[in-house]
Amino acid sequence: MNSWLTKIFRRGEVDCNDVRRLSSDYLEDDLPEVKQSAIRTHLSNCGPCRAFVETLASTIGILSRLPRVSAPSSFKESVMNRIKRGD
Ligand SMILES: [Zn+2]
Repeated sequence: MNSWLTKIFRRGEVDCNDVRRLSSDYLEDDLPEVKQSAIRTHLSNCGPCRAFVETLASTIGILSRLPRVSAPSSFKESVMNRIKRGD
């Protein structure tokens, strides 16, 4: 592991287990800012945890809170069209 990554993980004090345990609190902004930012840092470095949190977020409908996630406009349009059509 790169030394800068090691520093981030030590300072952040969250590992994959912490992220998964705290993910619902994280998504609800229910953690101290130091933990929120530690988790954000972890998510930007850890694909599996990001996927885990994204799945959880989409399940509870707050996907917009996550960094670097946005629904493509074509997706939004198809949802809107479906709503207009009423099916
Ligand atoms: Zn992780």
